[in-house]
Amino acid sequence: MSVDEIRRRCGEILGQESPADADFVCAVPDSSNTAALGYARQTGLPYELALIRNHYVGRTFISPAQKVRDMSVRIKFNPVRRLIEGKRVVVIDDSIVRGTTMRKLVKLIRAAGAAEVHLRIASPPVTHPCYYGIDTPVRKELIGSSHTVDEIATYLRVDSLAYLSLEGLLRATGNPAVHCAACFTGKYPVPFENELSMEIPDRGAATPEVGSPGAR
Ligand code: SF4
Repeated sequence: MSVDEIRRRCGEILGQESPADADFVCAVPDSSNTAALGYARQTGLPYELALIRNHYVGRTFISPAQKVRDMSVRIKFNPVRRLIEGKRVVVIDDSIVRGTTMRKLVKLIRAAGAAEVHLRIASPPVTHPCYYGIDTPVRKELIGSSHTVDEIATYLRVDSLAYLSLEGLLRATGNPAVHCAACFTGKYPVPFENELSMEIPDRGAATPEVGSPGAR
C-alpha cells in the first residue's frame, strides 16, 4: 500500500471511531493533510485549509531548544481567521510528541476566533521513544507516556481529544503482522542489550505537569 492510502485510511478509521459535532475539518499541514481528507470524507464534514504553513521554517519537534520550538510554532502556522471565526473546528494531526507545539497551535486557533477546537490524532498516543532511526525525545518528554487522554486534553485546552486506536492504525496498514508499533506499545521487535544506554541525550525540559503554572 502507498503511504497516501494508509494515511487516508487512518483518517477514515479515525472518523469512524471518533466523529465530532463540528463545522469543518482542517489539517495541521502538511503531513496530516491526507488523514484529514480521509476524516472529512468519512464524517461528511467540509475540508478547509484553515492553517497555512510557512515552508521556510523547519520541523519544530526536532529543534534543539524549547525557546526555538516555541518561536517556530508562531512563525510556522498562520490560522485563517475568515474560516475559523465563530466555528467549531476539527483539527487533525498525525501525532503528539511533547504536546508543547500543539498547545501553542490550539492557542493560535482560539485567538483566531474558534468557538470550539476538537483535536483528532491519526495515531495512538506516542508512549515510547524510537530507537530505529526516528529522532524522538526521551521517554519522560513524551506527554503520552505519563498522562491520560483527558489530562492531555486539559493541558492542550481543547474541547475534545481522541486518538486513532492501535487496532485502527494496524488495520489501516493492510498487513498488521509485519509492522513495528513500538513507539505506541513499548514492544520493540529488535531487542537491546542495554536499553538505557540507547536513550537519546536530553536536549530540553521534561514534559511539564498538567495544570502547573510553568506548563507550556
Ligand atoms: S513504529 Fe517503530 S520504527 Fe516506526 S517510529 Fe515507532 S518505534 Fe520507530
